[in-house]
Amino acid sequence: MGSSGSRAQAQQITVVGAGVIGLTTAVVLQRDGHRVQVIAAERGERTTSAVAAALWHPFQADPPERVNAWSRRSLDELTRIANEHPEAGVDLLTAREAADDTRLPWWAPSVPDLALEPGPHPLGAPYSWRFTAPRIEPSLHLPWLEAQLDCPVRIERVPSLASVDGDCVVNCTGLGARALTGDDELLALYGQVAIVEPGEIHPDVALGDERDETALVYVVPRRREIVIGGCVVPSSDDRPLTPDPELTDAMLQRVRAAGLKPGRLLGARAGLRPYRRTVRLEREGRVIHNYGHGGAGYTLAWGCADEVRAVLQDGKASTQGHV
Ligand SMILES: Cc1cc2nc3c(=O)[nH]c(=O)nc-3n(C[C@H](O)[C@H](O)[C@H](O)COP(=O)(O)OP(=O)(O)OC[C@H]3O[C@@H](n4cnc5c(N)ncnc54)[C@H](O)[C@@H]3O)c2cc1C
Repeated sequence: MGSSGSRAQAQQITVVGAGVIGLTTAVVLQRDGHRVQVIAAERGERTTSAVAAALWHPFQADPPERVNAWSRRSLDELTRIANEHPEAGVDLLTAREAADDTRLPWWAPSVPDLALEPGPHPLGAPYSWRFTAPRIEPSLHLPWLEAQLDCPVRIERVPSLASVDGDCVVNCTGLGARALTGDDELLALYGQVAIVEPGEIHPDVALGDERDETALVYVVPRRREIVIGGCVVPSSDDRPLTPDPELTDAMLQRVRAAGLKPGRLLGARAGLRPYRRTVRLEREGRVIHNYGHGGAGYTLAWGCADEVRAVLQDGKASTQGHV
């Protein structure tokens, strides 16, 4: 992806943020010949990206047209990674998404093999949409991305974007962008997942039911465990990330009530999705913003990174401003 099209003149670029968005953006810009330094307050397991179920699926991200284009680009790149780099923790699963009727979902344009299955969905809906979806294991994928970088990630909390060195600064700070930009459109959406032993859950099929966001259910198999979710709760940024045991029980109950048989509970994790009415991907002076990916950071990362690369190259999507 990053190597497609003509190359930009090499620049010194600082990417702020080492979640999936920052690391993917850094890899794409480095592939394009730039000198890239990532700076982050936290990395790896301490990011929101480490908590994600990390199934490719456009969810809780806007606007639809751009989200579909970014998702489709990411799908192609994640499919390539799954086929060529097993150590990156990406595998191709069959996804089955619950539906009440046969109307195409809004994300249909990003899915080349989408097919409607007649007959009930395993989580209890009358129909399912079936498609091939990459599933990413954050504990393998984030280190794999980091390992591609020529310069190790520098651990440091940036007090302001103006204080950061570089010809260009890419702001991939997720929820941290609120403090750095004053953007009050950015919202924290609490999510929680249970991690269980596989039990009798199919190892290659991911299930989702997002028809009612207040009773969201998903079952995402990893190589050695299953992730069961979930919830979407608007929250303050300082909401404690200690998982609520009652919520974990409720999520497991929903899945068991559908007749599925997950194994022993191994643990639970919680995180805050950085949601914005529209993902912010635009230039502001020396800064290119790339944040607000909501519940779809893994789904959008490669498409958005490729657009950052294009913005850097030709100044498209730029706005006025001097940071
Ligand atoms: C329960 C749950 C399930 C999810 N499931 C999925 C899924 O199945 N599929 C999917 O695609 N997405 C999913 N998501 C969403 C996904 O996790 C997010 O969209 C994604 O992690 C956002 O990535 P990010 O890199 O923008 O943010 P983060 O991972 O939060 O990274 C932000 C980075 O910026 C750094 N930073 C912030 N402020 C500063 C500062 N001032 N100075 C220096 N560094 C700073 C942080 O330290 C960190 O390194 C899920 C999220 C949750 C919570």
